[in-house]
Amino acid sequence: MSPGPPEAPVAAPATGEPSPVAAPPAALEVLHRVFGYDAFRGDQAEIVAHVVGGGDALVLMPTGGGKSLCYQVPALVRDGVGVVISPLIALMQDQVDALAALGVRAAFLNSTQGAEERREVETALLAGELDLLYLAPERLAVGGTLDLLDRAPVALFAIDEAHCVSQWGHDFRPDYLRLTVLHERWPSVPRVALTATATAATRAEIVERLQLTGARQFVASFDRPNIQYRIVPKQQPVQQLIRLLRSEHPGDAGIVYCLSRNSVEKTADALVAEGIAALPYHAGLDAATRRRNQARFLREDGLVMVATIAFGMGIDKPDVRFVAHLDLPKSVEGYYQETGRAGRDGLPSTAWLAYGLQDVVQQRRMIDEGEGDVAHKRRQSQHLDAMLALCETIECRRVQLLNYFGQESSACGNCDTCLEPPESWDGTVAAQKLLSTVVRLQRERGQRFGAGATIDILLGRETDRTRQHQHDELRTFGIGQELGESEWRGVVRQLLAQGLLAVQGEYGTLGITEASAAVLDGSRPVRFRREPERVAKAAKRRAPGAELPEGARDLFEQLREWRAQTARDLGVPAYIVFGDATLRGIAVDRPRSLSQLAGISGVGEKKLADYGDAVLEVVGAATGGGSPETRGSEAPASETLGAEMFEPPPDAD
Ligand code: ADP
Ligand code: ZN
Repeated sequence: MSPGPPEAPVAAPATGEPSPVAAPPAALEVLHRVFGYDAFRGDQAEIVAHVVGGGDALVLMPTGGGKSLCYQVPALVRDGVGVVISPLIALMQDQVDALAALGVRAAFLNSTQGAEERREVETALLAGELDLLYLAPERLAVGGTLDLLDRAPVALFAIDEAHCVSQWGHDFRPDYLRLTVLHERWPSVPRVALTATATAATRAEIVERLQLTGARQFVASFDRPNIQYRIVPKQQPVQQLIRLLRSEHPGDAGIVYCLSRNSVEKTADALVAEGIAALPYHAGLDAATRRRNQARFLREDGLVMVATIAFGMGIDKPDVRFVAHLDLPKSVEGYYQETGRAGRDGLPSTAWLAYGLQDVVQQRRMIDEGEGDVAHKRRQSQHLDAMLALCETIECRRVQLLNYFGQESSACGNCDTCLEPPESWDGTVAAQKLLSTVVRLQRERGQRFGAGATIDILLGRETDRTRQHQHDELRTFGIGQELGESEWRGVVRQLLAQGLLAVQGEYGTLGITEASAAVLDGSRPVRFRREPERVAKAAKRRAPGAELPEGARDLFEQLREWRAQTARDLGVPAYIVFGDATLRGIAVDRPRSLSQLAGISGVGEKKLADYGDAVLEVVGAATGGGSPETRGSEAPASETLGAEMFEPPPDAD
């Protein structure tokens, strides 16, 4: 069963292989000097060449794929300022700080600024002193902004989070509809629209609404090989989560998504009570608290953010090691976007979702009772069905996910179904027993009950309810004793997921669907995924830092401490100083000179000047005078890391 969106799948996208088109020499120079990177990745070179040459582009790349360079490098190469439209006002300061740390002249204009500050930015812009300017889309409606841009030479427009223009997706922002003005007013300035979320439907909407029909489309592989996808049956979700964090992610930064504010608060409290540093984030908190919690999550190492989906868009903290969902996401697009926030740095990370019968009941009800016309509800139902198909699959999760985005792939070896293939069983008879109980209650008694009462009947339980309603007189009373309670709940859940059972109303009462008839008359066999008796033993992941050689691990920790202190002193997130991947490179290579340090991926001209001596001091103190020549034959850090990044984790033991 394919969970794809109703539209035709897109053509198989290009893979991440290096493209044949070389980036212009000026672009490579910027990449080396400013960013400290050896080479462009995947389609970056081709995109940069295209945009530097004045072409429009639509860039679809997963989170962590390296979208920023696709407009930052051309903005530095072309004359004038690169104008970046981004919905993420709260993050603009960090984005600008990160660029400043690289020596790039960047600023933003948004509603958080006072008139004075805005004037300073405008002056710098008009004086040609800016390489990049970040703008919120609503800024374009503010009088004078367009005229201001008329007076500054614009190198390009970058439209970040371009899926915000789409109503099919999940982040629609009406202000994005206004962005056509860019094309109309500055037809010769290249535009590059970027997003990590795009089914065929979203992509078509982006092209149409942003008038990008002439743009070249670059579709990267959507795979995130370093993320391990796992979906487990929900029992006691908070306890399950705590076990996961204890056993696999002690001290790691991560995000836990819950559906309601209430469960956000409760979960955060439960984690804190267990000694796990956790913060809440939801729309019910005042803006100052939200801002503070977000800033702490970005700046401090190893915090867990417990949040509703109001949190996370554009969070480019690279070392989020896990994303956990305690409730079922409403769509595969949302799920992929949210889980995609794990592991932007390419290091092993976990996407974990606990899912149960109650999720299905609740979400169906929310759709039924929610606002919106029939078409809207149908769309929501399609989204939910695709999400359920992903949860119930016995195939590779990644194959299903990528298929949803129109991409063919084969079993990944790094998801729960690959690591511990679930068994399936012939559930035709069980399905018939359950469905006929539902039918009998309805036809013979005119009653509708929820899953609990129905399962009591199948198990032949003498409860107050069965006595009160004389359910023990039903023909199906006690005919289901070959299965246990949790297995029956699994049957109900999977019948719902397959559309063979319906759920209604406040109490989640069960009813049959048109498709149920074929199961009841035996013409349609049903297969179920076996409910694990115990929570499947977690596929064992390497402990943080475990893939580093023995000596490098200590140095890595010392570098992290130095980084934390430096970031605190500067008041910026730790990753702005250096990312984990760069620190690991340093820990492995142990550079003894500035020129050796400059050879490590992520160390550009400015950071070398700012932090070089301090880093060498940390390395020197840890190495205690050992000679770097003794390790001269080892591969450079970036290569060593590259190989590690995509190595599948060892088998469960
Ligand atoms: P996205 O915006 O697509 O989520 P980013 O632009 O934030 O991704 O890039 C993800 C990470 O990969 C960042 O840490 C970035 O510095 C790094 N990165 C991007 N391109 C390269 C490259 N060519 N070489 C090395 N690292 C890169
Ligand atoms: Zn898999």
